[in-house]
Amino acid sequence: MKLKVTLLIIFTVVALLYYVLPHPSLPTSSTITMFQKGMKNAEVLNLQHELSTLKCFEGTFTGIYDTNTVDAVKNFQTQNKLPIDGVVDIHTFNLIADKIITLKKVVVMIDPGHGGADGGTVSGNAIEKEITLGISLKLKKLVEALGYNAQMTRETDISLTSLTQPNGISTWETRDLKARASIINKSKARVFLSIHVNSFPEATAINGASLYYSDVYPQSKGLAKAIQTSLNNITSEGFVRQARESSKVGFLLLRRATVPGVLIETGFLSNQQERDLLMTEAFRDKTAKAILDGLLASKILEN
Ligand SMILES: [Zn+2]
Repeated sequence: MKLKVTLLIIFTVVALLYYVLPHPSLPTSSTITMFQKGMKNAEVLNLQHELSTLKCFEGTFTGIYDTNTVDAVKNFQTQNKLPIDGVVDIHTFNLIADKIITLKKVVVMIDPGHGGADGGTVSGNAIEKEITLGISLKLKKLVEALGYNAQMTRETDISLTSLTQPNGISTWETRDLKARASIINKSKARVFLSIHVNSFPEATAINGASLYYSDVYPQSKGLAKAIQTSLNNITSEGFVRQARESSKVGFLLLRRATVPGVLIETGFLSNQQERDLLMTEAFRDKTAKAILDGLLASKILEN
């Protein structure tokens, strides 16, 4: 009995001493530093790009963990309720990676209308298939810069007709549209944007962008409205654009697509001023940016 009491006392004293006295502890995962001020390497450069994608970094991409980078990390930590120290520990590192992966899972499918033998509408050297591809490539870059996964139904001057087997009934145009719908549907995109250019030679004064949607997906209507508003607001010196309204239609592509989407007529080639603007890089840039702004305003890419 006496031995047991002695052992109990010794155990209690040792336990108390361990608890009271300072003792070395192993580093926990949260204390492992991945990046900190002063570092310079390719991974820091990558970190800066990722923080920029997450809208936390402002400044020049130097590859040096400088004051801008510390501020960016602090921004990220503030937004995500992490301890704010401007140092990338394993928790901050993993959360940045998670956020980037989440963005990349959101597919935006861009569909440049027409292509190859199908030029679409034409006015002199202005050809719809070329304008739609030009705007689409710009839009793709803008979408990618935000971290989303931008894909296109075509990236070169090709028709998609040959991707659908002829069945004796479908015209080459229908086969082309079915192929586009198939690409869109296989991509499981969050949204698709089909880019076109309009023409109405009977009334050459008509100009402006027109958005079309179907009621298959309720989100398409809000998306059309948001992009319509954004495109209506494009300003160009000496040219006042007609503000138009989005419309519900039963176009084949809109009906066959199994994801929400819209068809965007970016302007009229039959209107001389708009035709000339559509042939400039500046107006195509403005158009792509306006489509992106509308897309973001619709909030369809969130959640
Ligand atoms: Zn078209």
